[in-house]
Amino acid sequence: MLPAFNYARPESLKEVFRELKTTNAYLHAGGSDLLGCLHDGIFPATKLVSLNALKGLNSIKKTADGGLKIGALVNISTLAAASDISRRYPVLAEAAAQVASPQLRNQGTLGGNLCQKPRCWYYRGEFDCVRKGGAKCYAFNGQNQFHCILGGSACYIVHPSDVAPALVALDAVVKISGAQGERTLPVADLHVHPKDDPLRETYLEPGEVITAVQLPAAASGLRSSYRKIGARQSWDFAVAGLALALVMDQDRVTNARIVLSGAAPVPWRSREAETALKGQRLSAETAGQAAAAAVAKAKALEHNAYKISMFKGLIQEQLLKLLS
Ligand SMILES: Cc1cc2nc3c(=O)[nH]c(=O)nc-3n(C[C@H](O)[C@H](O)[C@H](O)COP(=O)(O)OP(=O)(O)OC[C@H]3O[C@@H](n4cnc5c(N)ncnc54)[C@H](O)[C@@H]3O)c2cc1C
Repeated sequence: MLPAFNYARPESLKEVFRELKTTNAYLHAGGSDLLGCLHDGIFPATKLVSLNALKGLNSIKKTADGGLKIGALVNISTLAAASDISRRYPVLAEAAAQVASPQLRNQGTLGGNLCQKPRCWYYRGEFDCVRKGGAKCYAFNGQNQFHCILGGSACYIVHPSDVAPALVALDAVVKISGAQGERTLPVADLHVHPKDDPLRETYLEPGEVITAVQLPAAASGLRSSYRKIGARQSWDFAVAGLALALVMDQDRVTNARIVLSGAAPVPWRSREAETALKGQRLSAETAGQAAAAAVAKAKALEHNAYKISMFKGLIQEQLLKLLS
């Protein structure tokens, strides 16, 4: 059952900041993640502060430098369908199209997707795990078939978002507003690694709001894609996912971003795979080398060793698809 909470629907950011001063107040965008958490009693809330009466957070605009500014309240369906995105940044449109189900894509927003809580069944269940302030990660010696193979430490979650890895691959930046003013942060630096703090998902300070995501102009020769493998075809999170953004001069890779989802507690940029490809001609051989480099430091838990070969195959296959 949902607990009782107050609900505010401010019409300006200034009022949002004021409402957020209440202890245990949470921003509410689409509610598709937040209300599930409250329903399951994962954390308490005294107040929800809706962003839905704010104007100006719901549009996609071209920026002066040839990039795009996407408002935090733009829903996932719009990200998947917008021609400015699918034409210039296919990785983002493809990632959005693979999120959840049509209903959830209509309800869920860009900002909410970036800030959603992890889907670990111990965290979402009745376990006093390290992410809820407890002493241990139950996944480490438990049912860990969907947990991380890279970056494991205090907590072995995988980051749940498909959109975040695509944005990291595109070098996107989040715009953040708070009572103290505005700031920007690369999406690559938004998410907190559990070794630094297992209790937080993002580096947003209390009372801060993501207002937009900015994409830089698409480089000439940019080829990008997103693919995920899930346990089911829809309504499911990535078991293994891959966001690619390569800048190509014919078949030579001049720049590369290779970001894994379903692999690590944060969207996982594989600098090893990027280094293996940069300056090389893309071929079956170099794609295989990049795939091997991406998983070279992977450490399987008892039930998820299958992910290592899954990622290897996924990376090699998707890289070669960018040649066609
Ligand atoms: C069954 C199911 C399957 C799913 N499958 C996938 C999937 O395959 N891939 C995937 O990527 N996601 C998946 N999701 C997650 C879904 O995409 C998110 O629930 C959704 O994007 C969250 O958006 P929202 O607007 O509903 O966020 P809300 O639920 O309103 O908020 C989520 C969190 O973000 C915070 N927040 C919201 N907006 C902002 C903002 N602008 N600034 C700062 N903080 C903010 C809220 O306080 C809250 O903590 C799934 C969800 C469900 C329920």
